[in-house]
Amino acid sequence: MLATESIDLLNFDVECSMDACFTAFDKNGDGKLDLEEFRLICRALFRNDKGKIYSLEETKLKEIFDVFDKNKDGYIDREEFTFCWNHWIKIIVRPISAFLIVDVQNDFISGTLNISNCSAQQNGAEVIEPINRLLETVHFDAVFYSLDWHPSDHVSFIDNIQQRELDPSSPVTAENAKTYDTVIFAGPPPMKQRLWPRHCVQDTWGSELHQDLKMLDNAIKVYKGTNPDVDSYSVFWDNKKLTDTTLCAQLRLKNATDIYICGLAYDVCVGATAVDALAIGYRTILLDDCSRGVDLLDIEKTKNTVNKNNGVIVNSSQVKAMVEGRDRRPELGYKLAMELKSNSSI
Ligand SMILES: [Zn+2]
Repeated sequence: MLATESIDLLNFDVECSMDACFTAFDKNGDGKLDLEEFRLICRALFRNDKGKIYSLEETKLKEIFDVFDKNKDGYIDREEFTFCWNHWIKIIVRPISAFLIVDVQNDFISGTLNISNCSAQQNGAEVIEPINRLLETVHFDAVFYSLDWHPSDHVSFIDNIQQRELDPSSPVTAENAKTYDTVIFAGPPPMKQRLWPRHCVQDTWGSELHQDLKMLDNAIKVYKGTNPDVDSYSVFWDNKKLTDTTLCAQLRLKNATDIYICGLAYDVCVGATAVDALAIGYRTILLDDCSRGVDLLDIEKTKNTVNKNNGVIVNSSQVKAMVEGRDRRPELGYKLAMELKSNSSI
């Protein structure tokens, strides 16, 4: 049994309780933590605000233990625990959370690329209320709004198809291309591109954020898709990874550890952004009820990819406790441990 005292230590001021925590979990008092003692730490760490303990797979527990047992003697000694405390436990208990609201713009809700006309027939306006509630009730360390922000001659617009040469390998010719088809433009290198209706043209009504979306004064806007020749689904990078947006630098500036991502469209820009956030190494949380998409099968694929890469998918009602470090997910703890492992092996 884990003493209540030990659980409280993890909720205690993380600045001054490292030694107390070590001592509390070093049950046999041998001055080092074995796997069983580390298991108790994980049981105290990975639980929600109502005391429910999340299970952690045995193989993952062992993998995490191995990250911190640097000298591979089967124990986490005090020095190794110092690293574990500063780089892992502290972040799990006191994450720095960024909220990223993707492309909640008029064109995707009621304009030229109204997603309710796409196969999943979802209503983009439904994301506004839960997003506003989060902005009003949760204290994020940083808030970002991204905007799809295209010049008039953008490569993704079907009515610009004649402006650029197609590659001979393109499955569809310029004459036969229809909206939502994927073509291949001539390179070098050849570039796949899905064709969309003209949308989110810079400084038009369609590119404005929806008027009902709550705007925070100190939030940061991130513009993407501004290069006429390259599309940009991810808020981090354009689709060819030629140029990053200002988001990477802004997140580093804030020392963000966790990113909550939602908005439009689930299986396009939201999904691409979440995949990039995970690849960069962020603990990544996708907000299911604050996102709407284009195609049901693609939405499922997006969820699978996020889960497979140690991200988590939650509803907005769970966010406040997570941001406040009271609901601590093992998937995110595992993700962080794997990042520490890959960073230390460089
Ligand atoms: Zn676009």
